[in-house]
Amino acid sequence: MTTVTRAGAGHNARPYLYGSEQTALAAVLRSGQYNHSTVTDEFEAKVACLLGVRETVAVASGTAALHVALLAAGVGPGHEVVVPSFTFCATIQAILAVGARPSFVEVSPRTGCVESPEVLDALTPATRAVLPVLYGGRAVDLSDAQPTLDKRGICVIEDAAHAFGSRSGPRRVGATGALTCFSFGPIKNLTCGQGGMIVPRTPREADTCRRLRGLGIAESPTWRAQATSYTVDGFGLRVQMSALNAAVGLAQLDRFHETEAKRKALWRAYAAALRDVDGVALVDVDVDRSVPHLCAVRILRSRDRVFHTLQEHGIGVGTHYPPNHTQPAFAKWHRFLPITEQIGREIMTLPFHQHLTETDTTHVTDELRQALTAGGGR
Ligand SMILES: *Cc1c(COP(=O)(O)O)cnc(C)c1O
Repeated sequence: MTTVTRAGAGHNARPYLYGSEQTALAAVLRSGQYNHSTVTDEFEAKVACLLGVRETVAVASGTAALHVALLAAGVGPGHEVVVPSFTFCATIQAILAVGARPSFVEVSPRTGCVESPEVLDALTPATRAVLPVLYGGRAVDLSDAQPTLDKRGICVIEDAAHAFGSRSGPRRVGATGALTCFSFGPIKNLTCGQGGMIVPRTPREADTCRRLRGLGIAESPTWRAQATSYTVDGFGLRVQMSALNAAVGLAQLDRFHETEAKRKALWRAYAAALRDVDGVALVDVDVDRSVPHLCAVRILRSRDRVFHTLQEHGIGVGTHYPPNHTQPAFAKWHRFLPITEQIGREIMTLPFHQHLTETDTTHVTDELRQALTAGGGR
């Protein structure tokens, strides 16, 4: 049998460049300003404008955004952070980075996201924060838990690494009042090459985040350039966003309306093609409101066999994510999470990026249908 390997469908995820990124990057290279610069300031301002928020704080990665946000929220040793096990390991490592411990909770198999009852059940006197993950780009609604969280002084920090541009009701994710963290890594909805961003809740929290990302230095980088000294007034990391990365992000942001439309169209094409396929459950990203980051399905029988068959046929499938509570590094915080473990055995992500065409989605779905029947439904 011959297999046509299509360039698009062969990759699970890939960055998509519009062309203007190279020019923007070359201009910053020529300028010699590679640290946080006015280009970074401009990127922060334009993202704030798109989201409809007062200010944003750019950092070196999504993981750094979570790390800084947790520190800014006062989460540290002795504290517990309620978090889904079903996420990228970066979410959990950020919790460990501040000396806190993860309290793993189940997610809904329909959405891959945590819901209020599980969050409320997991609260203990040590809980200091809840860290929902916006799986696939879907906004997480914790409004039923919010009054209790507020009463107990528990902060919500959103891992919105998948959800740049998505909406929660009429507002964009980031503009809902939660402390929100985005990633602009290579394969995220918007890429800076590498990068991340925090949407702080108050001007004071924004200031704290800026000091934490810049070695604890109180003055802004622009101000410092004209001064004879500076003040280090607290702990700080070195996780600022380089102007090189910000330039790439600015170019991507100009075309973000196209990104949004294309990602929604691809996800809808998959959803339509998968409607009549038995043994497959599509994870619902709430496409009308979201800018999808993944097209994830649960393969109800023989996921591993289906996965390998598709790989052999040149289809770039993935498994986002193997659960974290069963990872050796996080064994200390293991809990019995049967739903998450089942999702871990069933989850498979289909090729999803902007190099794909709707014809590619049909090809992938046809291959999936064949892979499912080839095993005789074992
Ligand atoms: C990508 C990602 C991160 C980390 O972002 P980086 O920019 O890669 O550091 C965190 N959480 C989730 C769910 C992610 O997908």
